[in-house]
Amino acid sequence: MKRLVYADENDNVFPIQMNTEKEIQVKDYLTKSNLPASDYVINPYVGCPHGCKYCYASFMKRFTGHKEEWGNFIDIKRCDKKINTKKLENKTVFLSSVTDCYNEFEEKYNICSKHDYLKIKGDDDNET
Ligand code: SF4
Repeated sequence: MKRLVYADENDNVFPIQMNTEKEIQVKDYLTKSNLPASDYVINPYVGCPHGCKYCYASFMKRFTGHKEEWGNFIDIKRCDKKINTKKLENKTVFLSSVTDCYNEFEEKYNICSKHDYLKIKGDDDNET
């Protein structure tokens, strides 16, 4: 797995330290949204390894039970239930409102690539 780095304001580069990486079971990837721009949100991960300095989502830490700094933990959501696409007809879905669902852990856990709804459509999907 590639290691991510970040640069400070003086362009000094540091590796991102990930202290906690664990899998958690969830009932559904879909969460009803209170955001004005979306009916549902999908966040396949809790936390975000990028740990951006100006992250708008770091407030989420207080709902996770994690003591680590934002950017130093990630929970990988496992869910057996398929995403109910019928329920999403004429609805808007905000993917990754409080994480990056294509972060470096995706290479290891394949959460998005295992779910058709979350998959990035590529050339080999024969879709136009
Ligand atoms: S959620 Fe977005 S802004 Fe926040 S750390 Fe991840 S990539 Fe950065």
